[in-house]
Amino acid sequence: MVVDADERSLASLCDCHLPEARTQSCLRAPPAHADQSTVTDASDRAEREHQIVHCRIRPVLPFDEESDDPGSHASPAPGEVAHAVDDETVQVKCSRPGHPPINKTFTFERVYRPADPQREVFGDVRPLLTSLLDGYNVCIMAYGQTGSGKSYTMLGPRSEVRPVLPPDCHSDLGLVPRAAEELFRLISENPSRRAKVEVSIVEVYNDDIFDLLAEDTCTATPGVKCEVLTTKEGRKEVSPLTCTSVRSAQECMMLVGAGLQLRAMRATSAHAHSSRSHLIITVALTTTPAWDSSAEQGSDPSLLTEPGRPWPQQPVAGRRRHASPRASSGSPGAPPGGTAGHTEQVHAKLQLVDLAGSECAGVSGVTGSALRETSFINRSLAALADVLGALSERRGHIPYRNSKLTHVLQDALGGDAKLLVILCVSPCQKHVAETLQSLGFGARARQVQRGHPVPRKRR
Ligand code: ADP
Ligand code: MG
Repeated sequence: MVVDADERSLASLCDCHLPEARTQSCLRAPPAHADQSTVTDASDRAEREHQIVHCRIRPVLPFDEESDDPGSHASPAPGEVAHAVDDETVQVKCSRPGHPPINKTFTFERVYRPADPQREVFGDVRPLLTSLLDGYNVCIMAYGQTGSGKSYTMLGPRSEVRPVLPPDCHSDLGLVPRAAEELFRLISENPSRRAKVEVSIVEVYNDDIFDLLAEDTCTATPGVKCEVLTTKEGRKEVSPLTCTSVRSAQECMMLVGAGLQLRAMRATSAHAHSSRSHLIITVALTTTPAWDSSAEQGSDPSLLTEPGRPWPQQPVAGRRRHASPRASSGSPGAPPGGTAGHTEQVHAKLQLVDLAGSECAGVSGVTGSALRETSFINRSLAALADVLGALSERRGHIPYRNSKLTHVLQDALGGDAKLLVILCVSPCQKHVAETLQSLGFGARARQVQRGHPVPRKRR
C-alpha cells in the first residue's frame, strides 16, 4: 500500500478509540495533491465562500442487499440510481410503476463519487482550517439518512476494539481526526503565536443537550444535561459545559473517543449502529502573539502554548464552563481581516457535527423508545430545514428555538461562521426517497444568503 506523508502523519491518531468509526458559489477548493500556489488560491477562495454544500455518494455496500422490508423483495437488486454526472452535479433516476423514469439533477459546490477516498473529502475541508487560524468560526456538518455515511465521513470507520484501527485503516480516517491533525500542524507552523485549544463534546438526544465530557456521568444516563444560554455579546453557549484543554491531535482524539462511548446508539433494521443523537464536537482556539506576556497572567496560563516550547506536564482537563461571558470572547462587531496584524488575541470555534440520520420508522423497523427517538430525530431535522428555509427567504423571524439542535447551532446557521454541509447519500434504489429528500435539503441550504463572515479577535 502506498502511504503518503499525510497518511503517515495521521498514523498516530489511530491509537485512539473511535467507536464509530455560499450559497450561489461555484468555487471549489483544490484536491489534496494541489501545489502550493493552488493551496494559497484555495485559502483565498475559502475566505470568500462561507456557506457551501457538498454531496458525497457512498459505495453500494453488502448491507444494501439485505432488507427486512418484505415489499422490497419485489423490487430489483439494488441498482445505482444516484450518480455523479461531473464534480458538481448529481443525477437521480426516479421511476414509479406505470410512469416513464425521469432524471432529477442537483448541483452543489462539489460532488464526491463512491470511489473518492476520505483524503479527497478532507482536501476540500483543509482551507477551512486555515480560516480557523485566521479567526473565523467554522462549522462542518454531515447530513443524510441513516446509513448514508455521515459518521464514516466525519469520524471514520467503526471499530469495536481498543487500540483500534489496524495500520491499513489510516486512509479511512474521517474529517475529525484529519482536522485535528491539520489544526496542530498549522499551529506548529507559526512560532510567532501561542495557541490554546479546548475541546467540548455534546450530543442532542431527544431534544435535550448532554455534555459527553462531564466527569460526574452516571452510567444510567449518558452525559450531563445542559442548556443553551445567550452571552451578553449575543452569542449562544451551552452551559454548564466541560471544556478540556488538549495539546495534540492525539489528545483531542482521545477525548472524542471517550465522548463517543457515551453517544446514544442503537441497532435498527436500516443500520446496525445507528446514531440516535446529533453529535457536536467543538474545538475552541485562542491564539496570542508569542511575545504577549499579558496572556500568561490570565487564569489559565498553563493552557497557552508556544510551538517548540515544551507543554506543561499536566493537561488541564475537564473544566466545566458556565455561560458567563467569556473574558476572552471576541466582539461580534470586530472588523474583517485576518490575523495579519498579529497583535490581538484571536478566538475561533470549529464545530464538527455528525447529525443523526433521518429515517422512515416503517423502514427502520423501530418501536417503543426507539420510535420516540426516531420521532425526535425527524422533528429536529425538520426544524433544521425550517430554519434554512426561513433564512433563505430572509424572514424576520427565524425559528431557531423550535429545536435544541437549531438553537445550539444558531451562530453557525445564521451567524457569521463559514458553514460546510456535507450531504451523504446512498446510491441505491431502495433509498431513493431519502436521497431525494437529502438533496432537496442541500438545495435549500444553498439558497441561504448570508452576511460576510467576520474573524473574531480582541486587542
Ligand atoms: P450514518 O452515520 O449516515 O448512519 P455510517 O457512516 O455509519 O452511516 O455508514 C454506514 C456504513 O457504511 C458503515 O459501515 C460505514 O463504514 C459504511 N460506509 C459509509 N460510507 C462509506 C464510504 N464512503 N466508503 C466505505 N464505507 C462506507
Ligand atoms: Mg451515524
